[in-house]
Amino acid sequence: MAAKDVNLHAAFGEDNFFRNAFNYDLTQIKKWLDDCVKGEKGGPQTEKEEVRKQLSRIKGALYFLILPEGLHFDDPNAKPNSHFRRKVRTDWRTVVDKDKDPVKFKLLSWPIEHQGALKESLESSWANAYDLLGLFISILGPAPTTADKNNYFLPLAAVYGRWCSRIAGHACWKWNWKTPGNGAGDWPYMFQVTWKLMKAPVDKKPPAGKKPPADYKVFFLGSSIAGDDWIENDKDDKDKYTGKWRRAVQHSRFNWLYSGLRLKKFTLKDFDSSPVQKNPKTTSNQPYGNCAETYPFIFSVRGSGNEDLMGLALRRDYMMDQNLTAYNHDKVSANLCGPCANCKKLIRDAGAKTANFSVYKEASSAPGRPKATTAAKTKTATDNMSAVNDPPPEGWSNSDDDLNIEYYWGPDGDGTMAAQQVGLTGAKGFMIVSRDNGRDAYMFTASTGKVYLWNMVTNEIYEYTKPTDRTAILAQMKMPPGKGELERKLLFGGDL
Ligand SMILES: [Zn+2]
Repeated sequence: MAAKDVNLHAAFGEDNFFRNAFNYDLTQIKKWLDDCVKGEKGGPQTEKEEVRKQLSRIKGALYFLILPEGLHFDDPNAKPNSHFRRKVRTDWRTVVDKDKDPVKFKLLSWPIEHQGALKESLESSWANAYDLLGLFISILGPAPTTADKNNYFLPLAAVYGRWCSRIAGHACWKWNWKTPGNGAGDWPYMFQVTWKLMKAPVDKKPPAGKKPPADYKVFFLGSSIAGDDWIENDKDDKDKYTGKWRRAVQHSRFNWLYSGLRLKKFTLKDFDSSPVQKNPKTTSNQPYGNCAETYPFIFSVRGSGNEDLMGLALRRDYMMDQNLTAYNHDKVSANLCGPCANCKKLIRDAGAKTANFSVYKEASSAPGRPKATTAAKTKTATDNMSAVNDPPPEGWSNSDDDLNIEYYWGPDGDGTMAAQQVGLTGAKGFMIVSRDNGRDAYMFTASTGKVYLWNMVTNEIYEYTKPTDRTAILAQMKMPPGKGELERKLLFGGDL
């Protein structure tokens, strides 16, 4: 444990919860969840019988979907393994019409009610291990008013992400993870927590001898869509091919976000026209509902009075060290990200402040912040390209620190591996979405001489098809809002 690290708040009835829980393995996590259901852990909430009943139900659903052998995760009748509840659609292979995408599974879900920061409780649908874990922990809230970003919500998101990495999925394919490591799909790209200060009613006098009700901070945890390998282009592999299953899952989450939100500023027809998708100059292709903010926003955004909503998003890369054994505030903070264009729109539509979701909001004063500079990074990121397209278009960065060339584009870097998946070699990044704008996409060139976009959330690669050269593309991206056009196409393994 670093001697200079920040003091973390107590949580869920345990003084040193965050630092201890950060290191829990799957057995310890399950034991802790079991103990919460029994009322022996989890703090004041689990003293209530109705809360324990709710937790018991959620735990039951969760255990169906997690490692090592959840009945729905490892279902002999619904291969390949997945951390989503599903069943095989018997007719799915007969779909031949180009526009009717074959989808192997029908997504099944559990309806579960929760109130969060809302005025009344709300029923939403749950189908995934990571989402259910976020719900379970969120029910153990609220946090006290002394909880803030650095002493509570950041370590909370870090513990949640760490537990997600233990209950399901696998690290990015380059990491030969050992425990437990054999789940389905990469870990979620992003973890998010949204919180809101709830004022105790001032008009009610407490009964004699009782303390007046205190203010508190209610929170909700979520992750970006993950938990499946989404093999959509290997049609001949009967065991692995699942068609457009990822899109079907995205569509369900989009619908759940839509029906859950108390303030609706988009419509059910907007699945393919979120701000990210509509703006050809920006980044990638996520619909509303793909982000880690999905469930947190469902249970935090009210019909009005959202000015004080706060949030943070944490990228999974803080876990990419196999020897990670302790919570390190600086290393975790360095992976904070601002909201993407979709989430920024949802935040603004809610009447909340995007600044309250910024990387730099309540930034810790610990050394190394807000710029995460290490000696190793500065030494290795000597790529000259940053000078070529200086300054980058708005929302993008080409600083050596952000580019982190060695990390992403080294021989086993995530970018290099993603490019290789579609047959590209000599991949080298030159511009990344800035940290405060989500850091979710990276532009790169390859030995083909063409320019590509790597969607870091979904791990998809797009090729720029009009224009095709870097200078012209950048010129389009720097045009004023509403101007500038770019076309790109999604690449699959067999395209090249
Ligand atoms: Zn987002």
